[in-house]
Amino acid sequence: MSHLYSFHGGIHPPEHKAESNGARIATVPLPPQLVVPLSQHIGNGAKPLVAPGDLVRKGQMIGSADGRVSAAVHAPTSGRVLTVAPRVIAHPSGLSEPCVVIEPDGEERWVERSPFDWRNADGSVVMDYLRDMGVVGLGGAVFPSHLKLGGARALDTLVINGAECEPYITCDDRLMRERADEIVTGIRIVRTLMNAQRVKVGIEDNKPEAIEAMQLACGGSDIEVIAVPTLYPSGGAKQLTRLLTGREVPAGVRATDLGVQCFNVGTVQALYRALEHGEPLISRIVTLTGAVAQPGNVEALLGTPLSHLMAFAGAGPEVAGYVYGGPMMGFVLPSLDAGLSKSGNCIIARSPELFPTAPPEMPCIRCGTCAEACPAQLQPMDLYWFARARQFGRTQERHLFDCIECGACAYVCPSNIRLVDYFRYAKSEIWAAEKSRDAATVARRRHEARQARQDREKRERAERLADHYLPGGRAPAQPG
Ligand code: SF4
Ligand code: SF4
Repeated sequence: MSHLYSFHGGIHPPEHKAESNGARIATVPLPPQLVVPLSQHIGNGAKPLVAPGDLVRKGQMIGSADGRVSAAVHAPTSGRVLTVAPRVIAHPSGLSEPCVVIEPDGEERWVERSPFDWRNADGSVVMDYLRDMGVVGLGGAVFPSHLKLGGARALDTLVINGAECEPYITCDDRLMRERADEIVTGIRIVRTLMNAQRVKVGIEDNKPEAIEAMQLACGGSDIEVIAVPTLYPSGGAKQLTRLLTGREVPAGVRATDLGVQCFNVGTVQALYRALEHGEPLISRIVTLTGAVAQPGNVEALLGTPLSHLMAFAGAGPEVAGYVYGGPMMGFVLPSLDAGLSKSGNCIIARSPELFPTAPPEMPCIRCGTCAEACPAQLQPMDLYWFARARQFGRTQERHLFDCIECGACAYVCPSNIRLVDYFRYAKSEIWAAEKSRDAATVARRRHEARQARQDREKRERAERLADHYLPGGRAPAQPG
């Protein structure tokens, strides 16, 4: 039996899993329009390849990857492109980003699909293929998967994340129960591509059916399916890696440099569909729960308006807003007009009973409870203090960027301080400052290059004049 390690801190919020994990994954009827964001992943958004009026097939690439850290975007169904324009996306600020709006024709006409011969392809060709199939991490981070695959020549342990520790979310639970064979085939592919010696699949022990299904699908192999204690945030990549391998992955260090890499169960299933069936990532499983008549999980096309999904789940007039993601790491949606994105693992309809108004913040009493709960072993009260005082350098000295924004500290804080809000604020201020510093450096380099070019042109002009007017000789050096 595999040894289990532990991580520091963690909390036990009410699970709220039973509401949505009982029924099989349902299919949502086609909406009248799909609003497909071109940026659904970490890195550069995709570059549009279609224009209004174009007819597209299901699975056709409609946005190509822009650079190394990017991924392609595809038409989730066949139909006509209505527009390519900014539309509200699922973001806490209500931000608009370029989207391709498609009117489905209801015929679901696919592009030609065929398996990809990944066994005989060069590693870089497989990476390019996966980038072009739009495969990104489906556990919430939406990091382009080809980059994670390309980082290692030989791996000690491949960690597969089926923990799904955040309350309310059950999409991975249902996926493991219903499509364990596809997940395991995906695991075998990733294992081969990464040359991994061993594979450990971590699933929280509150999902006995998923554990059983995965064990059955792995039967006879050396892939270990391991039940980990239900403790939030055991599904964080670093926390699960620590639980299963005992290894710490410090901030700024690539997991592959330590011989480990972690993939979500949904991601390896998407990898399998892409490589063995030639299907790009055009849909995902999403949990619809909270104050709805029919909580459950659906397989929805990317770009499906969130309003369409919540109408399908039976959200009533008593709903007081919606959360995209889980209650710990998700955010309140300013609008349901946005289309479902690759990161959309859960939508929770909020009611005053389920989500009572947060009590007012009180002063920090330096009780240290937040530090006890922090899985990253930070001192959240110090981070809070320096973020409030806008001493961002001090927050960095105290490892602000090791914070995974899990919300465990805020959950236990007796003074109801919304600590994560302060940490996000500090991070965004630091990023903005770095961006403007980078912009100043670029401007200075541009100025220097322009100056050098002008000096060179001046010199060349002088030399030309000398050649012209002084037979057999060059002009004397020009000052300046
Ligand atoms: S738990 Fe809240 S009150 Fe206690 S030290 Fe942390 S921030 Fe301060
Ligand atoms: S949000 Fe950050 S500081 Fe708070 S417990 Fe999680 S990792 Fe620690």
